[in-house]
Amino acid sequence: MALKITYATMSADNEELNASFEKAVVDVQSRLGQSHGVIVNGEHRRDRDLYEEVSPIDRDILVGRYAQATNDDVDDAISAASVFAPEWEAWGWEARRDLMLTAADIMEEQIFEISALMSYEIGKSRLESLGDMAETVEFFRYYARQITDHDGFVTPLNSLGATETNTSVLRPYGVWAVISPFNFPMALAAGPSIGALLTGNTVIVKPSNTGALMALEFYRVMDEAGLPDGALHILTGAGVVIGEHMTHHDDVDGITFTGSYPVGMHLLQTASEKRPKPVSCEMGGKNPVIVTRSADLDLATQGIVRGAFGLSGQKCSATSRVYVEHSVHDELVDKLVDATARIQVGSPFDRSSFMGPLIERGVVTRFEKAVDEVRSGGGTILVGGNVLTDGDLTRGHFVEPTVVTAPLDSWIWSEELFIPLVAVTGVSGLEEGIALSNDTEFGLTAGLFSTDEREIDKWFGEIEAGVAYVNRAAGATTGAWPDIQSFGGWKGSGTSGAGGGGPWYLRQYMREQSRTLIR
Ligand code: NAD
Repeated sequence: MALKITYATMSADNEELNASFEKAVVDVQSRLGQSHGVIVNGEHRRDRDLYEEVSPIDRDILVGRYAQATNDDVDDAISAASVFAPEWEAWGWEARRDLMLTAADIMEEQIFEISALMSYEIGKSRLESLGDMAETVEFFRYYARQITDHDGFVTPLNSLGATETNTSVLRPYGVWAVISPFNFPMALAAGPSIGALLTGNTVIVKPSNTGALMALEFYRVMDEAGLPDGALHILTGAGVVIGEHMTHHDDVDGITFTGSYPVGMHLLQTASEKRPKPVSCEMGGKNPVIVTRSADLDLATQGIVRGAFGLSGQKCSATSRVYVEHSVHDELVDKLVDATARIQVGSPFDRSSFMGPLIERGVVTRFEKAVDEVRSGGGTILVGGNVLTDGDLTRGHFVEPTVVTAPLDSWIWSEELFIPLVAVTGVSGLEEGIALSNDTEFGLTAGLFSTDEREIDKWFGEIEAGVAYVNRAAGATTGAWPDIQSFGGWKGSGTSGAGGGGPWYLRQYMREQSRTLIR
């Protein structure tokens, strides 16, 4: 790929990129609408109840039919993963790393085809789909560099005598469960799996029902790279059934969950009831941005628009609250309304579309409910607020990007909405902006627009968020990239305290063994 894509890539005006993506959109059509089994120990079990996934772009496009795994499938996958775990650890980190690097190359070679499938499946714009894929390729390579730089996490310790050798060895837990959400269906199924596999765990993935195709594509790439059957298993189906059974299973040794706060909290509180096990939960956000009077307002506008409306607001890092110092409030709001009104909404297969559909009909209902709350609760829709049903859009789930004001006690300011709606209000200055920003159960990402060094220092010191951005036009609160910004939440947004794509991430998949040998 001539152009390196990240989530900070500002526009898709590269002809080669567009042509490759558009060719892939046609080429992959024959891969849509197929029936897929669950994958247990290399076996594709197809004789199961199937559920259908249709594209959010157009309900007439059948993305695929997927097997509803049974609890027996869960048991079998965990059993096979347990049996293979010692052999996988014995492979050694160099061999596992080399396999991951092979997989990265295979994924990169197929990046346009898999991205096109992802756009059909999730409705992502081409840059968002390519970003999700390129991020995954980078996870393979970044984590491979990490384990290499740490020499497989084997660290010599001091000794009390000449006959004594002491070593700290980080070793895998065993069988790791990965539960992933719909919105980054490759990066968030693959990222934790790569971390767990590379460090020597075997892995069971339970993807979101919307997003299952990407988990199966991940498996295909790993299979092509030569991953042994026992190392990775994919169980599609309803979370409340098999996700519940899998995470509470005695032989699952650790869990990475990425998804909503209620499900994450439930798993955190119950999954290790019967036996201790690490449960890492990366959850929601209600991500605030402060704009002070010293800010470049054009930059702030661009950052807020990309942060609030990228992937139709369906990012855990989406910008959802904006606190603007009174003296620049009206000017910023005018610019924001103007920029929002110019956003192109439509099929990701149109080059001009910045914003695609919402994932499903239920989310459109959530959008309508939020708009009603603003109107009936004393707020104002400054721009947007409508469901789009013109022409072909009627076959998908398209809505307008929306900017609102609302009283501060409205749930618009507190609940994670996961829709393209951002609320704006005036504040007296940075102090009040920080207090309001932190007044939430969440602590994922946050943004500041300011050119005042004292304000910037104060904000970095006081903002309660795992990912903090100052003056970022590419996304006021969104668009973290491996080895550029580690990505993980504080407070109700995350439990691991070590962001994905960051220097401390792999640690959570290993437990320390201290080895003393006296000769
Ligand atoms: P979700 O919580 O509805 O589902 C996430 C996954 O959990 C799915 O695979 C689902 O099937 C499974 N699940 C549901 N109930 C379960 C149970 N009882 N036991 C085990 N598994 C169960 O989330 P979603 O709608 O797919 O994704 C959106 C949410 O994810 C948002 O809240 C967003 O903020 C969050 N998210 C967080 C991050 C992050 O890194 N912090 C990243 C992306 C998305």
